[in-house]
Amino acid sequence: MNTLVLNCGSSTIKFQLISTDREAMRQDADRRLARGVIERLGGEAVLTMQAGDGPSHRYGAPLRDIRAALDHIVRWIVSPESGIGEVRNISEIHAVGHRVVHGGEHFVRSMLLTEETIRAIEQLTDLAPLHNPANARGIRAVQELLGHSLPQVAVFDTSFHQTLPERAFLYAIPYQFYRRHGVRRYGFHGTSHRYVAYRYRKIRNRRLEDTNIITLHLGNGCSACAIQAGKSIDISMGMTPLEGLVMGTRSGDVDPAIDVFIGAKEGLNPHEVESLLNKQSGLLGVSGLTHDMRELLDEVQANGDRRASLAIEMFCYRARKYIGSYLAAMGGADAIVFTGGIGENSPEIRARICAGLEWMGLSVDPDANTANGKGGAIHQPGSRLEAYVIPTDEELLIARDTVRCIEGEVDL
Ligand code: ADP
Repeated sequence: MNTLVLNCGSSTIKFQLISTDREAMRQDADRRLARGVIERLGGEAVLTMQAGDGPSHRYGAPLRDIRAALDHIVRWIVSPESGIGEVRNISEIHAVGHRVVHGGEHFVRSMLLTEETIRAIEQLTDLAPLHNPANARGIRAVQELLGHSLPQVAVFDTSFHQTLPERAFLYAIPYQFYRRHGVRRYGFHGTSHRYVAYRYRKIRNRRLEDTNIITLHLGNGCSACAIQAGKSIDISMGMTPLEGLVMGTRSGDVDPAIDVFIGAKEGLNPHEVESLLNKQSGLLGVSGLTHDMRELLDEVQANGDRRASLAIEMFCYRARKYIGSYLAAMGGADAIVFTGGIGENSPEIRARICAGLEWMGLSVDPDANTANGKGGAIHQPGSRLEAYVIPTDEELLIARDTVRCIEGEVDL
């Protein structure tokens, strides 16, 4: 089944075309036929398109909205110029899978979209004002362009975390705010945590109910997830993605009283303070240089910049604290799994996060840590707590969930 996987944002659309079915899933023989990114929607958009493992092409095109962008993507896919030999006709796109940021409490698993489920996604706009409207517009645009009978599936960033117990998802504030406004921890990056947990199970030959791990998704956004018996029981991101680890531009955990204090001192309204914590904090805010971890590491190596070094140290320290607290919450775990741009590519950050955890039974093997960027074990033989690097692939999981939903069965 050829599935178009879409991640529709307000100014950016990412897509992949993935061929998969039950047999391909069993054999790990899913095929990525194409991928691309459209940036700066609304004016002269910038497109980067790639068929299979071929070269990527970058060009500009005037695309005013999501619908125009999707129209362009579909035409490109079926055109001979794209080089995707096996999809020559729109009817050969068999399904569409959408990444949807917020599923609230309504969606506990991926769902085949109907008028009712699309409305439910639209109604969650309150909780994800930046993301859900764009996701819903993408779903509607596909209906208009490819017809209402084409199966579409939504895969939610939040749904994996709907297994959190109350004690973990509630904030210790007056209970009625949960009842009235849905104020609670939802967590995000669920597709990534779920995918790497699945890969870990495959590597270790474990059953779902025997999977007890802590997954660290470290990219521009960062989160830690406690997975017990295969289920998410705690997640560092909260009601919004702002809470938890130090991220590229997000502060992660802060004392909430800081909001009012900074607002008063700097003459900022609550929205401006929230924006400051989301967009000008984290690695960028502390270093004053960049949100990009690789650039920070280079800066420290080349010039020994003190604040770049401090930002990195804070990033690693916070991650280490979360590992400790989740190990306590879970009563121990079997492994820590690193994923995301930083988690997959930086042996130095992995080593620094794990430094000093030997007493917990985690010994990282320096050679394996340096060698295993592409995935695999990085602990020393005999380490009681194991550590792995497992590249994430959210698009693949979305394509697979799409097939499963259409066939009427979704599992973890
Ligand atoms: P997103 O969360 O937007 O998907 P990624 O998962 O691609 O982002 O992660 C981006 C982050 O990964 C950036 O901070 C980038 O510097 C970092 N990164 C990528 N490669 C390396 C590397 N070799 N060493 C250190 N950091 C890296």
